[in-house]
Amino acid sequence: MGPLQIKDILQTSPESQSVTLKGWVRTKRESKNAIFIALNDGSTIHNIQAVAEPGQFSDELLGQVTTGSCLKIEGQLIESLGSGQAVEVKISDIQVYGTADPDVYPLQPKKHSLEFLREIAHLRPRTNTFSAILRIRHALAFAVHKYYNDNGFFYLHTPVITASDAEGAGEMFRVTTLDLNKLPRTEEGAINFKEDFFGREANLTVSGQLEGELGAMALSKIYTFGPTFRAENSNTTRHLAEFWMIEPEMAFYELEDNMDLAEDFVKNVITYALDNCKDDLNFLQNRLAEEEKNKPQNERQIPLLEKLSFVVDNPFERLTYTEAIDILLKSKPHKEKKFQYPVGWGIDLSSEHERYLVEKHFKKPVILTNYPKEIKSFYMKLDDDGKTVRAMDVLFPGIGEIIGGSQREEDYEKLLGRVHEVGIDPQNLWWYLETRKFGTAPHSGFGLGFERLVLFVTGMSNIRDVIPFPRYPKSAEF
Ligand code: ATP
Ligand code: MN
Repeated sequence: MGPLQIKDILQTSPESQSVTLKGWVRTKRESKNAIFIALNDGSTIHNIQAVAEPGQFSDELLGQVTTGSCLKIEGQLIESLGSGQAVEVKISDIQVYGTADPDVYPLQPKKHSLEFLREIAHLRPRTNTFSAILRIRHALAFAVHKYYNDNGFFYLHTPVITASDAEGAGEMFRVTTLDLNKLPRTEEGAINFKEDFFGREANLTVSGQLEGELGAMALSKIYTFGPTFRAENSNTTRHLAEFWMIEPEMAFYELEDNMDLAEDFVKNVITYALDNCKDDLNFLQNRLAEEEKNKPQNERQIPLLEKLSFVVDNPFERLTYTEAIDILLKSKPHKEKKFQYPVGWGIDLSSEHERYLVEKHFKKPVILTNYPKEIKSFYMKLDDDGKTVRAMDVLFPGIGEIIGGSQREEDYEKLLGRVHEVGIDPQNLWWYLETRKFGTAPHSGFGLGFERLVLFVTGMSNIRDVIPFPRYPKSAEF
C-alpha cells in the first residue's frame, strides 16, 4: 500500500534499516561536515531530517534540492546525532521528482501573512499552519461521522440542487442551462423557466433540513453532512458563500433533547480532536501565542488547548431569548451606548450581543432558546404563548452562532398557518406539508456550520483559512 509515511518512519526504532522517503523539501542547510534536508510529506507536522556528506552528491543535483522541490530519498534509518529529533536518515540516494525554482517559488522558509497565503491557495497546504488545519479538519469530519454512526443515526444525502425557495430566495445561487444571451420569454415577457433544464426555477441548496425531515419521518434519526451555498453578500470573517453543514434531524426529540444532543455532539468531536490531533493543536497553540505577544496582557486569549478543554469540561449555559435580552439591557455596554446595534425585545441578536453574553457575561458557551417567531423560520414549533418559538442557537466564544436549530412544528394546521403568514406558496412545499398529514410526529434538529467548528478548534480567526479553497464575494479562483 505505497511507501511508508514519514509519520510512521518517525515512530520506527532505528536499526540502520533501509528506508525510502518521499516528500517536499522544507529546508536545506549545509555545514562543513554535512548537508541536512528537512523533508515533509504532509502526514504529520514533523519533518524528517535526512543527512548527506559533503561531496557525496554533485553540485548540480544538490542545486535542485531547494525549498519546495519534491524528492525520493533512500538511506538508512539511524538514531539522530543531533538534538530535536529521535531518528534521521543517512542518505544513500536522491532522486528529484520535481524542482521548485527559488527565484519564483513563492513559499520560502519565512513567515508569510495569511492574506498572502490566501492568494496562493494552491500552494498553502504545504505550509505548517495549513497542513495542520487540514489534518484537524479531516479528523473533525471523521469524528462527526463516527459520532452519529455510534449513536444510531443514518447519513442521508440531501440534494444540492433544489427547486424549493422556502428559505429565502434572495440568498440563493441560481442553477440554469438557459442561454443568458437568448432568454426564452413567456407571452407576458417574463423569463420562461419551463424551457430551463428542470422545467422550473432551480437553485443551489442553502440547507438540507427540509429533506432531512422527510428522512427522520422514516428512519427516526438521520444526519446530513454536505455543501451548502449562500449568496448573502456578508463579507465577514464568519461567512462563506460555500460551506459544509451538518444537520441531524430526529423524530421523537423535543427541544430539550435537541439541546442535549447538540452539546454532547460538539463536546464529543472536540474531544476527538484533543485526543487525536495533539501535535497539530500544539503547533497552532504556539503559533497563536506567538501572535498574542504583540497584544496587551488583558486582551490575550487563553491558550488554545485550555480553551478547548474548558468547553468540553463545563456545561453550556441555557437560557431563553427573553432572559438574554434582560441581561443585555442591564449590561454596561448597553448603558454606556457602546453597542453598535440597539437592544430590545424582538431584535435579531447581532454578533456583538451574542459575544457579550458568551465572552463577558457567562464566559462559556451559551444555548439561547424560545426566540420571537418573527425573527425565526416558519417551520419552528410555536410556544403556547403564540409569541415565541422552540428555537435554540448555540453561541461560542470568538464565533457567535455556531449552531442554529429548533423543535419543528408538527401540527399541519399550525404549520400551514405560518406558511401563509410568511407569504410562502404552500404549493411549493406540498411534499413537506404532507409529512404533517401522514403520521406526523414531534421532531427536532439543528445545523452546525462545519467551518465555524474548525475555526473554533484551530483557533484561527478567519473562516477563509479553515476550508481548502474558500468561496466568497469576488473570489472563486482555485
Ligand atoms: P448567521 O446569523 O451567523 O449568518 P444563520 O442564522 O444564517 O447564521 P443558519 O441558517 O441557522 O445560520 O445556519 C446554521 C449554521 O450554519 C449556523 O449556525 C452557522 O454555523 C452556519 N452558517 C450559516 N451561514 C454560514 C455562512 N455563510 N458561512 C459559514 N457558515 C454558515
Ligand atoms: Mn446568515
